[in-house]
Amino acid sequence: MRRQKVVVLGGGMGGLTAAWRLSEPGWKTEFESITVYQRGWRLGGKGASSRGASGRIEEHGLHVWLGWYENAFQLLRECYEELNRPVHDPACPVQSMSDALIPSGTIGLAERRNGALRPWVTEMPGNGRSTLASKAGRELTAVDFAVQVWRLVSRYFEGTAGAPSSPGFNPVRTAATGVAVSSAALITEAARLVGLREPRYNAETLEFGTGMSGSGVTGGSEAGGDGLHRTWQGVALMTAAIRGIVADRLLTDPRGLRTINDEEYLDWIERHGGPSELRDFSIVRGLHDLAFGYVDGDPTRPSMSAGTAVLFGGKSLLDYKDSFIWKMSAGMGDIVFAPLYEALHRRGVTFEFFHRVDHLHTSRESNRIEAITIGRQVRLEPGRSEYEPLVSYGGLPGFPAEPLVSQLSGATGIERHPLESHWCEWPDVERRVLKRGVDFDVAIFAIPPAMGRLVCTELLADRPEWRDMVDRIGSVATQSLQLWIREPERSLGWNHPGSTVSGIDAPFGTWASMAHLIDVEQWPTGDRPGTIAYFCGVLDAPPIVESAPAAKWKAEVRRRAVDFIDHDLGGLLPGAVGANGFRWDLLCGSGGGGDSDLLDSQYWRANIDPSDRYVQSLPGTDRYRLRSDESGYDNLFLAGDWTDSGLNAGCLEAAVLSGLQAANAVRGRSRDHRISGYFLP
Ligand SMILES: Cc1cc2nc3c(=O)[nH]c(=O)nc-3n(C[C@H](O)[C@H](O)[C@H](O)COP(=O)(O)OP(=O)(O)OC[C@H]3O[C@@H](n4cnc5c(N)ncnc54)[C@H](O)[C@@H]3O)c2cc1C
Repeated sequence: MRRQKVVVLGGGMGGLTAAWRLSEPGWKTEFESITVYQRGWRLGGKGASSRGASGRIEEHGLHVWLGWYENAFQLLRECYEELNRPVHDPACPVQSMSDALIPSGTIGLAERRNGALRPWVTEMPGNGRSTLASKAGRELTAVDFAVQVWRLVSRYFEGTAGAPSSPGFNPVRTAATGVAVSSAALITEAARLVGLREPRYNAETLEFGTGMSGSGVTGGSEAGGDGLHRTWQGVALMTAAIRGIVADRLLTDPRGLRTINDEEYLDWIERHGGPSELRDFSIVRGLHDLAFGYVDGDPTRPSMSAGTAVLFGGKSLLDYKDSFIWKMSAGMGDIVFAPLYEALHRRGVTFEFFHRVDHLHTSRESNRIEAITIGRQVRLEPGRSEYEPLVSYGGLPGFPAEPLVSQLSGATGIERHPLESHWCEWPDVERRVLKRGVDFDVAIFAIPPAMGRLVCTELLADRPEWRDMVDRIGSVATQSLQLWIREPERSLGWNHPGSTVSGIDAPFGTWASMAHLIDVEQWPTGDRPGTIAYFCGVLDAPPIVESAPAAKWKAEVRRRAVDFIDHDLGGLLPGAVGANGFRWDLLCGSGGGGDSDLLDSQYWRANIDPSDRYVQSLPGTDRYRLRSDESGYDNLFLAGDWTDSGLNAGCLEAAVLSGLQAANAVRGRSRDHRISGYFLP
């Protein structure tokens, strides 16, 4: 039988995962070739990062791995084992999976009080469910579940009475405070549910009135009004969720959590008795920040489908292994995409960089993709057969911030053009048409729907389900900011190294302490940062495709960043603010000076390209996602976080799940073949 030629269109996490599973040892007996087509000079898509001046890491936005990303961990583990750097690259500073990912269980939520940000930080408890070591992972058992709930509750008690690391920690006082606060919260919620008065909270006096005479609690301590108020909100949220799960029969309905995916999460919580003030609860805002769940990027309009929110929130809290969050020990490009490139390349997968997919052409008669038009952005220098995209940064291979012009022909000035952007004006050097039966047999479409709208016009004209998919699945632009600050975090007043804090309001819902990257970057002595801070959030840019609004939105993000730094950063890093506001001369790479123009030496992005828009999980959209094997065409399969993978949320695990499912479909295997974990049915 003739071996098939596979093309993977798009080199993000979904496409590369499909290529990884298809190219397992022995693949050449089944396939003649596997070729990845990617516009521009690097891989990674929404997760791409590269190295700029002084080897600094420049990301699309903060990327963390949640501790339950079982299939993504497994993929990376396989990749590092196969690379075998101890033998092939012993000088590389990241040798294995355990060098690549760092447990980062310190998380926080920000609350705004009297106009100022007030972060609430805790260390999520570890557990013995190893992510790095075990290959197969272990399913959550009922005992694990109960123990994990107990760990979370005890850690919360510690937070209300003083953390164990603090000198004043006293286990007896912790237990007593925990029991007192929880009892008060439970009584308050019970009273509310049976129709007594609504609890009231005054953020200025920190007074929490429970609605029962004489039971108001006052005080500035965590155990006082603030702690009780938060505990009551947590109890009210859990009570409503449990009521909802039982009343909507989610555990017995064969459609499981999908049953409620047409409903908005907070509406569902309210339908089951949750108070409306949960809309402002920091944990609820943190969940929406994690999933960029805001309609049109408007932070006042949180929205997630209820089933996905319960699945995502539940897995995040209860199903993590070892650590709640894992951070990468360098950029996502260095830790994930460069190793995947190296290992795939070694397996014999071909990469066609600088190849932009322009159109998929169909045939009604054959029900197949017959041709693919590609715009070739640049030619390689004469005599060169392939582009080699990686550069060594302190011994670690990674993608540079610009194409390596020395490998290209006639490319003077190309580095100033945004080759990954839909609005790039650099002229193509060639129009290539890949033909079925000649250049490919099977195609894996790994390009998100907002870009699919532009390149799949024939499929859209042909099939209503494609039109529904691109019209109905919501997406949102995002903005990010990275600051390199000379002084260490502690001297700036932040005492939670490695923490990730969400629930901050616009423009950046999340900030992360990333000082572990200082030694990975190549800063000159005298201009070395002591703090690296990443910020990320939604952006209210509409999905415009006709004109080129990139410059406008980049300027807008800069303006918002200056405003945020001037007005809000002091709530997180008080020491960075002096009598005249933010001390701009603290910024590295600026060469000294003193005003907001120095921000230009830092890094920020407006992620507005159709392909860069974050794919959301809005209510009522689930049904319009297509599965990897549901393209409707016999030789076309789908991979990416936008498909119906069973997770249906924009995250690395969803992209990996989908890539694995696409590979399973190409091979004619069952959808969940060699996939772990519990997801939507
Ligand atoms: C700011 C931000 C922060 C995030 N943070 C996290 C996080 O902390 N944790 C987490 O798990 N997830 C996070 N995500 C989500 C995560 O990045 C995505 O789920 C994942 O990267 C999606 O992978 P994908 O392969 O589905 O799509 P993409 O990454 O979008 O891949 C699509 C690929 O196709 C290429 N492409 C597009 N158009 C064309 C064309 N015409 N021709 C050729 N190639 C093309 C793109 O360049 C890209 O390489 C974040 C996303 C954003 C935007």
